[in-house]
Amino acid sequence: MTPDQTNPTPLATPGHDVEAWGFATRAIHAGQEPDPAYGAVTIPIYQTSTFAQEGVGGHKGYEYARSGNPTRTALETCLASLEAGAHGLAFSSGLGAESAVTYLLKSGDHMVAHDDLYGGTSRLFNNLLSNFGVSIDYVDATDPANVARALRPETRLVWVETPTNPLLRVVDIAAVAAQVHAYGDGADRPLLVVDNTFASPYLQQPLTLGADIALHSATKYLGGHSDVVLGALVVRDAALAARLRYIQNAAGAVPGPFDCWLVLRGVKTLAVRMRQHSANAMTIARFLQEQPRIARVIYPGLADHPDHALAARQMSLFGGMISAEVVGGREEAYFVLSRTKLFTLAESLGGVESLIEHPASMTHASIPPERRAAIGVSDGLIRLSVGIEDEADLCADLAQALG
Ligand code: PLP
Repeated sequence: MTPDQTNPTPLATPGHDVEAWGFATRAIHAGQEPDPAYGAVTIPIYQTSTFAQEGVGGHKGYEYARSGNPTRTALETCLASLEAGAHGLAFSSGLGAESAVTYLLKSGDHMVAHDDLYGGTSRLFNNLLSNFGVSIDYVDATDPANVARALRPETRLVWVETPTNPLLRVVDIAAVAAQVHAYGDGADRPLLVVDNTFASPYLQQPLTLGADIALHSATKYLGGHSDVVLGALVVRDAALAARLRYIQNAAGAVPGPFDCWLVLRGVKTLAVRMRQHSANAMTIARFLQEQPRIARVIYPGLADHPDHALAARQMSLFGGMISAEVVGGREEAYFVLSRTKLFTLAESLGGVESLIEHPASMTHASIPPERRAAIGVSDGLIRLSVGIEDEADLCADLAQALG
């Protein structure tokens, strides 16, 4: 494919009405027909940088692997289906996917972003994007009126994350989308980007709620096994897909075929994993609520969470992420983190194994302390990515660590 072409030939699923299938079926089969060469049931890892041509321009849909690779196409097709979109694009990391979206902007453009974003996303916006003449206003998007007030004629992107990291606030995607759609139309309308990493498409599908771009760090729940770094975008609009496909090839942050294959394999079990992550997290959230060393438990599934009603409406389950405030601040939080055995002290989330971390000094250390304080990322806050181990073992581990 030459850099100007927009899409490699999608892997077809002949004879199937893929979109009529349920989520779990699409996770296993969408874009993943047995390979025509030898009937391999799993998509082969096409570990090649280039593709032979029978004559100049005579190829089978692929020319050079930055532009397209059949393993990547299978993943992109599957993710598009799971997000109820039409076009999927895979990137070398979640931030690679985010960078690709920012290439839609030009100097003088304006962006409205939720004020509670993953630290690496804020770093991209504040330390890199701002150097290119793009202005950014951060607002509390949990009140969609704040988004509406911040929109300007030169606003091109509205960027939200829900549930947020690490405070697990929930943004009403449909309400924010309504504000964005009401603001303008045609080519000038701002695009709504929803980072769907924490929920995964099993719990919520932003495109069905009016978002224009669903974004993922597939490193997390989509991959699901803490063994790969990858990012993805899914869109419905063909023209937007063509622009992003051009950027994907021109900027070049593409994943390798083995990494695509790992995420494809992870996605096959996304439905069962998300059910178990959510069930375990609910049990652990209730358990933590009873612990005297824990001042506050933040989990959208708990009735006292500020966005519980919205989460119950917008998400099919409440997910696997919990944050909690340890009594006594940083020192006490460090003490708990040093004592867990099953919960591994590590950044990242969304894998089958449980992880625990301290946002203020790990995932969110790049956010200045005063900003962290303003948004509520306190020194006593710990974040748990609840895995799919036996919940009794997880509770016992936390009990001894809090002991
Ligand atoms: N978005 C969210 C919500 C994240 O938590 C992360 C990483 O932790 C990213 C994006 C960036 O993804 P990656 O680490 O795959 O570049």
